[in-house]
Amino acid sequence: MKFSDVIGQSEIKTKLIGMVQSGKIPHALMLMGPEGNGNLALALALAQYLQCENKTPTDACGTCPSCLRNQKFIHPDVHFTFPVVKREDKKGPAVSADYISEWRSALESNVYMSYNDWLQSIVAENKQGNISADECRQIIHQLSLKTYENSYKIQIIWLAEYLGHEGNILLKVLEEPPPDTVFILVVENSELMLNTILSRTQIIKTPPIADADVQEGLLSRFELDEGSARRIARIADGNMNAALDMMSGEEGTNDKRLHQWLVCCFNLKMKPTSANTKNLLDWIEETAKTGRENQKIFLKYAMFFLRECSLLSHTGHSQKLEGEELKFATGLSGRLQPDSYEALLKILSRMHYYIERNANPKILFMSNSIRIGGVFAGELAEME
Ligand SMILES: [Zn+2]
Repeated sequence: MKFSDVIGQSEIKTKLIGMVQSGKIPHALMLMGPEGNGNLALALALAQYLQCENKTPTDACGTCPSCLRNQKFIHPDVHFTFPVVKREDKKGPAVSADYISEWRSALESNVYMSYNDWLQSIVAENKQGNISADECRQIIHQLSLKTYENSYKIQIIWLAEYLGHEGNILLKVLEEPPPDTVFILVVENSELMLNTILSRTQIIKTPPIADADVQEGLLSRFELDEGSARRIARIADGNMNAALDMMSGEEGTNDKRLHQWLVCCFNLKMKPTSANTKNLLDWIEETAKTGRENQKIFLKYAMFFLRECSLLSHTGHSQKLEGEELKFATGLSGRLQPDSYEALLKILSRMHYYIERNANPKILFMSNSIRIGGVFAGELAEME
C-alpha cells in the first residue's frame, strides 16, 4: 500500500515520510488512534516505503519487486501479528500464522476493518481474540533470523492492546531489537496498553479522518453523487470503516426510520393506545428484517443525529444537519433536557454493542424503545 492510497491523514504521512528521509525512524513506533481512521493503512504504507528500492521523497514507487510483494502483503521481511482465536482443527496454541491467508484476504478487501469485522471473518461464534504468549515468543524468534532481502525486518502488531500482560514478553526485544528491525504497533485503545510497552515506543497519535477526506475517498472509489458522499461522511465521523459499511447497506432511509421510531417510543409512553403499540411493533418487525449490518448502520446514524441535536441545543446551530433532518432536530432539541442526550446516547451505544454480539433484535429494540420512551416522558409534548 502506497501513502497515496491511504485516505486523508496528510500530516501523519508527512511525519512518517520525514522520519524515513532523515534516517530517524525509531525501532519501535506506535500509531495510536480510533477505529476506522486508517492506522493499519498507515502502518502498511510505512512498511512499504521503508523497503521500497526506488522511493521518492514523497512515496514508495509501487513497481519495484519489494513494493510488488508489499502490495500483496507477502513480503518475507514484513511480519504480521493480530488477535486470533484457537483453531478447532489445530493442536497447540493459537498464533497469527494459522490465519495468514485469511489475514491477507481481509487486507485485500478492507484495510479499515474493525476488530469485530476481523473476528467475524475467521470465526462464526462470539469468541474473543487475543495475542498469545506463544505468538510473542514466535515474534522474538522470527526477528532473530537473518533478513531475506537485506532490508528492514518489520513487525506490524495490529491491535497491540490485545497483548494484555503477555506484552511483557516483548519488553526486551522492543528495547533492544536486532539491527534494522522496526516494530510498528497499531493501537486503538491505549488504556488497555501496558505502561511498560508505552514507555518503550515512540507514540504518534492519529486523528479521525477529516470529513472532506472521507467524502473524497468515497467519491474516488465508488460511483455515487456528491450529496450522498457528503451525507455518509458526516455520519461516519472520521471512521472510514463505518463509511464503507454505509456504502454496502441501506443508509438512505435512516432519517425517516429514526423519526418514526422516536415518535413510536414517545407515543408508547405518553399515549399507550393499542394503535400506537401496533405502530411500534410494526416498526420493530420491519427494522428486524433489515439485518444486523443495517441495524448497526441505523444505530450509528441515530447516535450521529442525537449528537448533532445536542450541539444544536447548546450552540443554536448544526453544521452537519440539513433539510427535513434539521427541522426535526430543531423541534426535538427545543423539548429535550441537556441530560437526556447523554442518556439516549448511552442507550444507543449499548444497543450497538449488543447487536454486534448477535443479540435478538426484536427483544433488544422492544426493551430499549420503552427505555427511550421513559427518557422522553414529559419532555416531548407534541411530537408529530
Ligand atoms: Zn518500490
